[in-house]
Amino acid sequence: MLSVLDLFRVGLGPSSSHTVGPMRIARRFLREAGKAGYLKGAMRIEVELQGSLALTGVGHGTDKAVILGLLGFAPETADPDQAEQAFHAAISARKLALIGGPEIAFNPIADILYRGEHVPDLHTNGMELRLYPMNGGPVFTRVYYSTGGGFIASARRLSRPVKGDVIEDKGASPYAFGSAARLLELCTVNDLTIANLILGNEDVRRPRAQTEDRLDQVVDVMMACIDRGLQTDGILPGGLSVTRRAPGLYQKLMDGAGANEREALFDWLNVYAMAVNEENAAGGRVVTAPTNGAAGILPAVIRHYCCEEDGTPMREKARRFLLVAGGIGLLYKQRASISGAEMGCQGEVGVACSMAAAGLAAVWSATPAQCLGAAEIGMEHNLGLTCDPVGGLVQIPCIERNAIGTVKAVNAARLALHQTGQGKVSLDQVIETMRQTGLDMSSKYKETSQGGLAVNVVAC
Ligand code: SF4
Repeated sequence: MLSVLDLFRVGLGPSSSHTVGPMRIARRFLREAGKAGYLKGAMRIEVELQGSLALTGVGHGTDKAVILGLLGFAPETADPDQAEQAFHAAISARKLALIGGPEIAFNPIADILYRGEHVPDLHTNGMELRLYPMNGGPVFTRVYYSTGGGFIASARRLSRPVKGDVIEDKGASPYAFGSAARLLELCTVNDLTIANLILGNEDVRRPRAQTEDRLDQVVDVMMACIDRGLQTDGILPGGLSVTRRAPGLYQKLMDGAGANEREALFDWLNVYAMAVNEENAAGGRVVTAPTNGAAGILPAVIRHYCCEEDGTPMREKARRFLLVAGGIGLLYKQRASISGAEMGCQGEVGVACSMAAAGLAAVWSATPAQCLGAAEIGMEHNLGLTCDPVGGLVQIPCIERNAIGTVKAVNAARLALHQTGQGKVSLDQVIETMRQTGLDMSSKYKETSQGGLAVNVVAC
């Protein structure tokens, strides 16, 4: 079993697969080159972006992420302003001080190659890095993949067969599960809620207090992101001239506080989700939940249902929400994928909606079966959702899509709570349907910006 904390990573926007993953890959490549003894004599580095990483890499800021990774920035700790400065300094000097290595000349136009036509078999987000000495061909070459949600894998790792559906488990988790059916069975047999079962699995990795601290930190970063997004107006970067809408809507809601309009619920959920995704589009600090593109849904639900009026988190509720949402996210990660480049947007916003629906049902004290029912409904009505970002930017349709996904998640939790008896569709069936739909989906709709809105909306 993976840890649920693996799903909730702090990183910089706008994309977990195209920004967070490539930054981590660049760092890892230099670390491996250093260990192999090739870094000190390096004179040049070449980075080849393949498949979706190349096709939407410019809009998603992949080039910038790679450069920051080579400079030593890590997604978890990078300060957005410092990163911005370091990036511009490197570009204007055309030099990179490699972390753990020498300073080398670097021209992004010649040294970052975009090979969108090369779609690797193992995963569409491929990245090959090559290190050159003074003369001759490359002395150190590695291929990695950014597999969604900020996860990365080497070619060797991805080509190794994985038995059954379950990601390799070190055998430590007391309640290992590879399906929703098994998860429910474990809850029933052990008389546990989903949240307590997941906590039991986390307990073998670290002391309980540490897990709780880390969950609280995740919530704090999410809430800080909402606060920044609610206060920051202006135009989003990238050339689409998209205006940030969250601050204006927030002001309107604050001015009309107490207006008692029935539809205000939608407005609050929308404004929180959009605040996060506008921050993400601007390269701000967000939590992958489970990806950056879909990062607004979980925080919006937490803010509305697990926080006091002034935004202070109610810790126990927020932890329960994240544990259950994370448990559902693990099922998607194990049985399908959380990568828009593999599954389309159903694998990002669809998965986030499903996770949030289950988490909220748990906050409302639903049974484990009802939580799984909420997760099922949350995905069932996102099946087939395509990824077609205009201009390759994580703005249209992504920002509004998170708002819609948040409202849908709350509705899914309500439907599940009122449900009596077993639903006709199980969570396992809907995850498998998502997987098959993702496999059948044309690559035009899988984070390549070659179809859908990306070709019908003029990007200027
Ligand atoms: S359309 Fe969905 S999957 Fe594609 S970049 Fe936007 S949020 Fe991510």
